[in-house]
Formats: sequence, structure tokens, C-alpha cells
Amino acid sequence: MPASGPASSEAIDVVIVGAGFSGLYMLHKLRGLGFSAKVFEAGSGVGGTWFWNRYPGARVDVESQEYSFSFSEDLENEWKWSERYAPQAELLKYLNHVADRFDLRRDIQLETRVTEAVFDEEQKRWLVATDKGDRIAARFCVMATGMLSVAKDPDIPGAGSFRGKTYWTSRWPHEGVDFTGQRVGIIGTGSSAIQSIPVVAEQAEHLYVFQRTPNFSVPAHNGPIDPGIVNDWKANRAKYRQMARESGFGILRVDQSEQSALEATPAERTQAYDIRWARGGFALTGAYADIIVNRQANDTAVEFVADKIRSIVKNPEVAEKLIPKTYPIATKRLCVDTGYYATFNRDNVTLVDIAASPIEAITPDGLRTSEADYKFDSLIFAIGFDAMTGALGKIDIRGRKGVALKDKWSEGPKTYLGLMVSGFPNMFIVTGPGSPSVLSNMVVSIEQHVDWISDCITYVSHRQVDAIEATPDAESAWVVHVNEVAAMTLFPQANSWYMGANVPGKPRLFMPYIGGVGVYRQKCDEVAARGYEGFELSTPAAGR
Ligand code: FAD
Ligand code: NAP
Repeated sequence: MPASGPASSEAIDVVIVGAGFSGLYMLHKLRGLGFSAKVFEAGSGVGGTWFWNRYPGARVDVESQEYSFSFSEDLENEWKWSERYAPQAELLKYLNHVADRFDLRRDIQLETRVTEAVFDEEQKRWLVATDKGDRIAARFCVMATGMLSVAKDPDIPGAGSFRGKTYWTSRWPHEGVDFTGQRVGIIGTGSSAIQSIPVVAEQAEHLYVFQRTPNFSVPAHNGPIDPGIVNDWKANRAKYRQMARESGFGILRVDQSEQSALEATPAERTQAYDIRWARGGFALTGAYADIIVNRQANDTAVEFVADKIRSIVKNPEVAEKLIPKTYPIATKRLCVDTGYYATFNRDNVTLVDIAASPIEAITPDGLRTSEADYKFDSLIFAIGFDAMTGALGKIDIRGRKGVALKDKWSEGPKTYLGLMVSGFPNMFIVTGPGSPSVLSNMVVSIEQHVDWISDCITYVSHRQVDAIEATPDAESAWVVHVNEVAAMTLFPQANSWYMGANVPGKPRLFMPYIGGVGVYRQKCDEVAARGYEGFELSTPAAGR
């Protein structure tokens, strides 16, 4: 049913699309401020990422206590994490608890996909339509649709022809999968694959790993959560939360050093990296200040990790294949693993280098590369996402004069602060392109955006303002700034999904903002404090 059709069946203040971390907190926050809001969620449950990605080994790679909401002291006091890095099931339980605890479910409509969102310039309302026939008019529309919520299409010939079972890490069966006695093929070696491979390898009769580009991975050293960390967190929580909000990546465990890698001696560097490798997780990249801005400094970390891979993987040829050689470390999302490299010492695991011998086609029995045929019973696609713009691209979003967001973004996403788009008044994006988003502990960034959006909606609603919109100038200046900051780093040197490089035909530009979570927050706060500088606020009388 077109959103632009006759009068709407329901009218509310805010429509929210998506019920992951972002949508849940957005609903809670708006309700508390007295606004009426409704959430539409395509899935049959809440939780977003943690509802969909149930593959074996799926877990957070930011420590549990850091990757959690900070908006409610009571919630923080009552919830206990069991592991250093919470597994998917526990994160899903947590988000369901949040939904129940704050009585959110009565305003969440599940199994409902938003298909259209059209801005009615006369009424200054977003007219939203769903695949279930709902039609709703709302003053504001918040896209909490996720940056990693649309799986990439399999860009491989014959993808539908496989006769065995096919699985996607990003929509894993709820009942789980038992690979015992099976030959399994997995395509991809990103974070999802790197978490799955060690677990699948323990079950499968044989596992073929099809690797196009190796990734850097650091050990998680996961285990039961350390009571010392829990107690320290409890005692210093407010301080730690604030430190995370003011930091570069929103992750305290990065423990960012200010020193240059090039000022240290080789022995000092090895020692510093060793300490951080032993600590686990993202700590490694915090060892020196210039790892992501200076290639020479970066090379020192590359060499360290390469030596680690060589020391873990017994077959030197396999080890060399696993060492990334075409991009600097951390310019593709660093992976955090449990036993990934050691898995290649198992007799039942074969690494197939599809950069050297590309996949020609998926076949009814398995897969054919330029060198060999591989036969298996199950195939796992771990090929990633149409990141950052994918979910928004699936909705027919139309702003002023019927302009489609897809067309406006045909050369890449353009936003002001990653929050709003010029020509699309009263529509907000949570952790949109142009904000720190996927370069950060996303819960920190989500809370910041939800708080900012709520303040903005409150500000507008308390004045005679019926529409707020980014000005084209402010948006252009922000896009330039985002690119300038990215260009000061090594990030653009990698063919990453941050650059849109993983999806054929997608425009190449660095989508998130690498200026740092703390710096970015300050900029957003300043914009608000100056009466929403860079935004045009229109009054009913003035129109536009
Ligand atoms: P999501 O959780 O993606 O939720 C968006 C929801 O919107 C989805 O449920 C989707 O179904 C729904 N939706 C989308 N379009 C529509 C539509 N048109 N109509 C209705 N509903 C719609 N981040 C970290 O910081 N640390 C991590 O360790 C980490 N691990 C991750 C592991 C995996 C496997 C993945 C895929 C991502 C990970 N992330 C991690 C990023 C993660 O996406 C965020 O941390 C966070 O969960 C995002 O929450 P969200 O609510 O913004 O989006
Ligand atoms: P990803 O990082 O994009 O990895 C996809 C993998 O599939 C890459 O190895 C890619 O190779 C390969 N691939 C894609 N298309 C292919 C093709 N046609 N043929 C062969 N190989 C192909 O996706 P992901 O692993 O799902 O992770 C996405 C992001 O989600 C992560 O970066 C992270 O932000 C988040 N995540 C986090 C965790 C966590 O640890 N908590 C876990 C999972 C995901 P190329 O590199 O050559 O393109």
C-alpha cells in the first residue's frame, strides 16, 4: 500500500524502524519524555544483530560490561554478564530483558517490514507503510535499521545451485545446526567466519575454508568474567562510562597510548605488543598512537602479528596464506578470535586460497575453483553485509519534492553529522554514515545518538517549529570534513566494507567518521547548544 495514499490510519509523534539496541533505547527515551512512539521490526523478536546472527561462536568482541547500556543504573546493577565477551544468546537475553523491564513490547510491532517512508510537505508528516499493510503518520521518523543488518548478495556464479544445505551467518537457524559427520564449506574469513570456523571445525568431518583476503585477528582470551573486573567496574562505573564517551573508540580496553611506535626500539615494541596480545582484544592497536596514521608504524604491528601467526600455524605455507599482505592492520575491522589460527593445525581443516585460484562457480555438489572441485554437504556464506547504507536502501525513502534517498546517495551517503540528511526533514538515522558508528563500541555511539535525537525532538516540539532539516551547506561541509579526516589515516588504503568496497558497484568512499567518539560528541553538543547550527528550523507560518 503506498504511503502517499489517502488519510492515514494512525498518527503518532515518532515512528521508529528497528528493534535492536538503537530502536529499544529510542522508544524508552521518547516515552519518558512524553512522546508517543511506535517501533516496526522485521524480525520475529527484538535484539537486531543479536537476534539474527546466531552462528556458532557468535559473541561480542568488546568486553561485556562495556558493550551494554549505561542509561539506567538499576539495569546496570541487576544485570550480570557471565563471560568476558558475552555470547550471542546472552546478548539476546539481555535485550529481551531490556524490552520487558521497560515495558517496551506494547509499542513494538514484530514481523513487520517498513517498505516506504514518504515526507508529506503539506502536513510535515512522515507517512510510513509496511509490508503488513500498516499506514502510519508521524511527525518524526527514526531509522534504527542497523549498519550491519542487510546481508550481502552472493556475488558468485551458481550461488543457488547447491543441492546440500546452505546457511548464512547473518540469518542462522534458531534451532542451531549440527555439522557432525558432514563435509562443510565456508566462504569468507571476516569476523563472522573467524568466530564460526573454530567451532564448526570441532564438529565437522571436514571443513574447507575459502579465503579471498586474509584478515588480521587477535586473541580474545575469553572465559568466565573476572570478578575483579566486575567489582572494579561496579566501584568506578560512572567514571569509566564517562571515559568511554570521551575516548577515541568508546572502548576503554583499547587503553590508547600517546607514544609513537617509531620512537620505541624494536625490543620495546615487541614487549609492548606482547603485553597487549596477552591482554587480548583490541588492546593491541592501542599500543601506539600512530598505528592507524603512519604506514611505517603500522608495519611494526603487522610484523608482530605475522610472527604470531607463523608461531601458531605449523604448516609454513598455510601460515603465509593466513598473513594479510595487501593492507595495513586495523584498516579492515580487526577480528577477535578464540583459537582461529590454531584451527588450521587440525587435519580436518583445509584452507583454500581463492585469491590465487578464484571460485569459478558454486556447483550442485560444492564449489569449483580454477584449480579444483570441492564437494561438501553444507555451505556457509559468511560473506558480510551491504554495510551502512544497505537497510536504508531497502526502504523507499522520499523527502522533499519526492526525492528518493537512494538517488540522493547514488554517489555515496551524504549526511550532516551522520544524523540527518538535507532534503529529508524530521528524519533521523541512528549511527548513520558520517558518524563514528561502526568504528566504535556501538552501544556508546547508539546512546549518544538517541540522547541527541531526543533532545532535538524535545527542542523542536517546545517551539513553534514543525520541521528541522540539515542545510545543504552544513551537510556538504561535514562530508568534506569526514573525508579529510579519513584521508589523514591509513583506512582508505584497504578495500574494506567501510569503503563500500565489498559490494560490487557500490560507490567507494570512507563512510564512518574517524575523528573519535569524544571529539564527535563534543561537535554534536556544540551544534545543539548553538540552537542547532547547520540546521534550518521552519515554523508553520513561515513554511518553506
Ligand atoms: P541492529 O541491531 O542491526 O538492528 C536493526 C534492526 O532493524 C534489525 O533487527 C532489522 O531487522 C531491523 N530493520 C532493518 N530494516 C527494517 C525495515 N525496513 N523494517 C523493519 N525493521 C527493519 N558492535 C560492537 O560495537 N561490538 C561488537 O562486538 C559487535 N559485534 C557484532 C557482531 C555481529 C555478528 C554483527 C553483525 C555486528 C556486530 N556489531 C558489534 C555491530 C552491531 O550491529 C551493533 O553493535 C548493534 O547491535 C547495532 O544495533 P542497532 O539497533 O543499531 O542495529
Ligand atoms: P566481512 O567482514 O565483510 O567478511 C566477509 C568475508 O567474505 C570476507 O572475507 C570477504 O572477502 C568474503 N567475501 C565476500 N564476498 C565474497 C565472494 N564473492 N567470494 C569470496 N569471498 C567473499 O563480514 P562479517 O564477517 O560478517 O563481518 C562484518 C562486520 O560485522 C565485522 O567487520 C564487524 O564489524 C561485525 N562483526 C563483529 C563480530 C564480533 O567479533 N563481535 C563478529 C561478526 C561480525 P574480501 O575481504 O576479499 O572481500
